Amino acid sequence: MSSTDFDSFAHEQHMRTAFELAQEAADRGDEPFGSVLVRDDTVLMSDSNRVNTAGDIRRHPELHLAYRACEEYSPAVREEMVMYTSTEPCPMCAGGMVTAGFGRVIYSVSSDEIATFTESTPGVRSRAILGDSSDVIGGLLNDEGRQLHADYDW
Ligand SMILES: [Zn+2]
Repeated sequence: MSSTDFDSFAHEQHMRTAFELAQEAADRGDEPFGSVLVRDDTVLMSDSNRVNTAGDIRRHPELHLAYRACEEYSPAVREEMVMYTSTEPCPMCAGGMVTAGFGRVIYSVSSDEIATFTESTPGVRSRAILGDSSDVIGGLLNDEGRQLHADYDW
């Protein structure tokens, strides 16, 4: 399999790993967001939200994975990666992910949907920031992704 044959990746399996990470975050006192970074259909890195427990507004999983990937992998390798993330990246994360240059980004719950759960104003959509550098695909396992937020005390 070519390393950029993204369509053959085990999308649902990787997204469910992101959901498990999101649930772990909620269980330890952080907000329910999780992400994994996949290359050759293998998870290389994973992270979940740690804003509360780390006391750091930057600790969204997508931005932290972008930071770690830039530390450890070349731009050419980052292009061969897919990020699976439980909720659409916020503008802060999407900005960092432009620098990382991942080939594809797949999310479950959209930023418009999360704004409904959190009763906040919808942010700039990730495609508007990432669209020139990454393919952005939304809505994977959307019912399961939404359930994480329905279960969380927003
Ligand atoms: Zn973010």
